[in-house]
Amino acid sequence: MTPELQQYGYLTLAHKVVDNRGNPLLAVEEIIQNSQGMYAGIASGSGSGATHKIPPYWVNRGVFMKLLQDRLLLATQGKDIIHWGHQLDRVTSEQTKKTLHFKNGQIFENVDLLVGADGIRSKVRALLFDDHKAAHVGANIIYGTIPGQTKIITENKFNIICSQYFTTVSCCYKNFDETLTTWWAIVYPDEGKPGNQEEVRAFWESQANVRALAHALVNKEDGDTYSKQLVDQTTEFKYAGFFLERDPLTLQRWGIDNAVLIGDAIHGIQPWAGVGASLAAEDGYVLAVLVKQYGFDQLPLAFEAFQRDRTNRILYFRQLTRNNTPQGILPADLRRPIEDVVREYGDQRPLAACPAWQEMLDKRMAKDPQASEQSEEKDLTNQ
Ligand SMILES: Cc1cc2nc3c(=O)[nH]c(=O)nc-3n(C[C@H](O)[C@H](O)[C@H](O)COP(=O)(O)OP(=O)(O)OC[C@H]3O[C@@H](n4cnc5c(N)ncnc54)[C@H](O)[C@@H]3O)c2cc1C
Repeated sequence: MTPELQQYGYLTLAHKVVDNRGNPLLAVEEIIQNSQGMYAGIASGSGSGATHKIPPYWVNRGVFMKLLQDRLLLATQGKDIIHWGHQLDRVTSEQTKKTLHFKNGQIFENVDLLVGADGIRSKVRALLFDDHKAAHVGANIIYGTIPGQTKIITENKFNIICSQYFTTVSCCYKNFDETLTTWWAIVYPDEGKPGNQEEVRAFWESQANVRALAHALVNKEDGDTYSKQLVDQTTEFKYAGFFLERDPLTLQRWGIDNAVLIGDAIHGIQPWAGVGASLAAEDGYVLAVLVKQYGFDQLPLAFEAFQRDRTNRILYFRQLTRNNTPQGILPADLRRPIEDVVREYGDQRPLAACPAWQEMLDKRMAKDPQASEQSEEKDLTNQ
């Protein structure tokens, strides 16, 4: 991916964090600076124990999805095996083989392996696993977009403004066709909001009212605030909803027969550590490796190994996310000292703890031990 990231991404070396009056928050800037892009650890594949520095490229989510989609299409080698826009409705089983029924009437019979990568409200989980429901965890979000570039504090970066009532995140990014879009999100805690859970849910999920919700929120602030300016210029109010979580320990078995879940369907977490998407992608990768290793006739063993391998890493990042949660969203006692978290789940921060990274290094080593060391250096440090 590195050449594509260089072509379509932004190299981000410095970070500016300010309060709602524009005063720099130097301590926060320093933390981001020190933690970004540095992955120290024993990369056992190379045996060097070196510190790896990853170039901190940022890439627009839509552009990244398009790049991944292009690769996926390439990998199918022209076969008609991708069916976009299908909504799973029912699953029926005959012996171990499953039949998938989609809302558009299409049916796929004799499925060898069913992977429920269908997110926090997983239908596959509801149909084949348990009736656990994702829980609302105290924060809500609204977002919208503005065509072109508005007055933005720092270009090509996330701008985060924490104010008394909510946090506003904004960013201006380049689209595939080189046009610019400004994107913003307002995150707002439940605290103090009247009404029961159902009312709160209905309020936040009333998509038609996103514009009204956004205006009502920013008008809580006095004066001509930055958030007000963003909302006033917005042409497209995209979404209003609330954050949901799934505790991975509520799912007893992550795979049953020839069906398995990955990603948010098992372990949806809040976005405060920015790792949900990576964990979902890692799940997919690790599962693929294990299915290859055990074979289709031993899927339950592959699923058991999958659950065993992934649990600590996921619980670690779930807790890290809780520790990162802005004030007012989760009870303070859900935060835990990082030393305790490391003691319980191991230190998952070094890139070497990521199975996909390890696999890549092992493969390179197997091909050419000497070249592997050199190319790794070239890919990751000299850019
Ligand atoms: C506001 C917000 C901000 C976030 N920010 C970040 C971030 O900065 N960094 C980060 O790493 N993570 C972030 N996350 C978390 C991240 O988006 C998720 O962890 C990640 O997308 C999970 O991937 P997934 O593949 O498991 O599920 P999803 O990405 O939710 O994908 C599930 C897919 O299944 C499809 N689907 C659902 N039901 C059916 C059905 N019945 N039939 C067929 N298809 C179906 C859906 O349409 C969807 O395409 C954020 C989440 C939220 C809500």
